[in-house]
Order: sequence, then structure tokens, then C-alpha cells
Amino acid sequence: MNHVVVVGAGLAGVRTVEALRGRGFDGTITLVGRERHRPYDRPPLTKSVLLGESDTTFVDTDLAALRVAFRPGVSATALRPGAVETTEGELRYDGLVIATGADPVRLPGDGPQHVLRTLDDAHELRAALVPGARVAVIGAGWIGAEVATAARRAGCHVTVVEAGPAPLFTAVGAEIGARTERWYDGIDLRLDTMVHSVEEGGVELVGGEFLDAHVVVAGIGVRPAVEWLADADLDLHNGVVVDERLRASLPGTVAVGDCAAWWSRRFQARLRVEHWDTALNAPEVAAAALLGEDAVYDPVPYFWSEQFGHMVQYAGHHPAGERLLYRGGPEGKWSAVWLRADDTLAAVFAVDRPRDLVQGRRLIDAGARLHAERLVDPEVPLRDC
Ligand code: FAD
Repeated sequence: MNHVVVVGAGLAGVRTVEALRGRGFDGTITLVGRERHRPYDRPPLTKSVLLGESDTTFVDTDLAALRVAFRPGVSATALRPGAVETTEGELRYDGLVIATGADPVRLPGDGPQHVLRTLDDAHELRAALVPGARVAVIGAGWIGAEVATAARRAGCHVTVVEAGPAPLFTAVGAEIGARTERWYDGIDLRLDTMVHSVEEGGVELVGGEFLDAHVVVAGIGVRPAVEWLADADLDLHNGVVVDERLRASLPGTVAVGDCAAWWSRRFQARLRVEHWDTALNAPEVAAAALLGEDAVYDPVPYFWSEQFGHMVQYAGHHPAGERLLYRGGPEGKWSAVWLRADDTLAAVFAVDRPRDLVQGRRLIDAGARLHAERLVDPEVPLRDC
């Protein structure tokens, strides 16, 4: 293999470049990125960047030392076997890495709305979060909750509009989400409420009510950024379909990060995980697969969020669980765990209990059986349950 093209210069893209070099690949690597920035981390965008504690979040990597031809501000527009079409001409390849991530979904309507995916998005939103501003955050998922945290901290009047019956409803369900409602102190939280459209001066809700807002932020989810692959001879279904080695259906092609839907041996399900840990670690396997080495990607997925002064962490895949049990009441530090019918752990959701997360992730990995009666006592370490 002489030339590998990596499309998408986010964390997954640059980590794949590092992994290829780390595994001794000596050929040419071209890294194509739509944004004008060099690769950066996104989790701090809703945290330290929005809070004004940092301005940039560049990934600590040396592109010159990696001998990568980095092409910022260039978009891939189409793929055919052996060649990627870009906004600056065709790039022929022997190996292809698809790492184009995901794009935020926007609300209908002609009024101004912010999304939060890029460094530029974060800087624009930060400038708008001034004391006294009326801010409408649409969606009480991970991004919405973190934006609401920053907006409240900035002294804004915050309304959060959520279509589901509880915050985090889509991510972890209504029961757990309801436990986080108390965190929205001082925020006008509107549950079971749908937005009709974003208009000049605010948001029109389904039913006709108008919410005045100087700033509207859509945090209603993302879609895998795979439109450029629409006409390619490649399996797409909720992202790029890849096997447990992260190989796509087109020979010589792998996909990693938010855009890749891989087959999980552990959970016997196809997973597409929009989390930083996946973008960080899957590239080792993708690089190995591209170089014809034997490696399988089969992690216990991990995610964290920092919202309203709480560290929220999640590991596993809860649809594989059947029983939901709690360790501790909603007023303090608590965790929720999902057990399978055979008492093995499927997933853990920890609020300010990092030990539960670390131990839970190991127990899921090991397929250990737990005792439900010990598990509900938050004083008993999870590993002793
Ligand atoms: P991306 O980071 O999206 O990178 C893909 C790159 O490809 C982008 O730069 C994009 O512009 C480029 N691209 C797209 N299409 C094309 C094209 N056609 N041609 C060329 N380039 C293209 N995860 C956590 O675990 N914890 C958190 O607390 C957390 N917080 C987050 C906060 C925010 C604001 C965001 C946006 C995400 C957060 N995440 C968090 C998720 C995590 O950042 C993502 O899972 C991770 O960035 C995925 O990396 P990626 O490289 O797959 O995709």
C-alpha cells in the first residue's frame, strides 16, 4: 500500500494517522479536513471553551513528524473505488479511512439558531451568552444540558425545551432522566414540549406559544456525516456499516469514530457510538485492519458529561440490560445499573461516583455476575457485589 487517504481531520482521523505510523506504515498519508483548523478535541467546547476558561483545544500531535499531507478546508464530495473527489480535485488512494464524524441536526424555521459542533460554533455561542440574555436551549440531552450549565453560569435567563418526558430521555430513558430534573434549578425546564420553528426573536412551540429568546441553541442530536458517500458502492445504514475489524464493504476501506456503525461481538448488536473514547481508541484497530493485521474492536463503550456541577459517566450498552437498579438516592451521589437476566452487568450510569464507573466498566468487560441485594447498597463497592 502506497497512499492512504484519511477523510475527516477530527480526533478519529488524526488518531488513525498516528496509529498507521505507529504500526510502521511508511507510505504517503493525506489527511483531508473540511474545517480550517488543525485537529482539536470537541468535549471541551461545551465545557471550558463555553465557560471562557480556554480558547482552543488542539490535539497534542505533530503533523510534520507524522509526515502527513494535511489539507485543511478541503471537503470530500464523492467516492468511487480508488479515488476520492474533493473540492480541490481528485485524490487517488490504495487505502481509505472514513472519519467524517457527525453533523448537528437543525430545527426548522428561518430565525437564527446556534448549533454546537465546531470550535467556531463554540466561539460564536460564547459571545452571545451575556448576563441577562434570554437563551432557549432546545433539547435536554448531553449537549443541551452542558450548554444550559454554561448559560446559567453566564447569568443568562435560560429556558430548556425538551420533547421527551425527562432530561436525557433519549440517552438513558425517562426514569433516570427524571432524577436529573432537580439540577435545572433556576432554569425554565419545559418537558413534553415540541418546537414548531425558530423565528426572528425566539421559538414558536407546537400549539402556538411563542418563547422570546435572544439566543436559540439547537441541541437535538447529530447525523453521521456521510452524505458525500450517497452514490458510493458502500453499505450505509445509520453511518458507514463496518465489521468488527472496522472494515467497510468497499475493499481497502475502514471507518472510525462517530460515522462508523460497527458490529459488537460483546453486545451482539451494531453500535454507532458518538463518544470521544471511541474516536480515541478505535483508530488502532482501523489502522491494523487497513494494514492487514488481525485486530478486533470490542470495547465496553464509555462516555462522560459535566453538567450542573455533576460528573456524569456511562459505560456499557443498556439496551442489553433488563433490570434497572439504583445505588443511592437522587439527592446525593448515585448510580444506576442495568442487569441482564443472568445477573451480569450490561451498563452503569454514575453521578459523582467515579469508582462505580471504573469498577462497573471492568465488571462488564469480565462478564461478572452481581448480587442485586448487595448492589443496591451504595456503601458496598461495586466490585464486591
Ligand atoms: P468529528 O470530531 O466530528 O470529526 C470529523 C471531522 O470530519 C470534522 O472536522 C468534519 O468537519 C470533517 N468532515 C466531515 N465531512 C467531511 C467531508 N466530506 N470532507 C472532509 N472533512 C469532513 N464525547 C464524550 O465522550 N464526552 C463528552 O463530554 C463529549 N462532549 C462533546 C461536546 C461537544 C460540543 C461535541 C460536539 C461532542 C462531544 N463529545 C463528547 C463527542 C465527541 O467529541 C465525538 O464523539 C468525537 O469528536 C468524534 O470524533 P470523530 O473524529 O469521529 O468526528
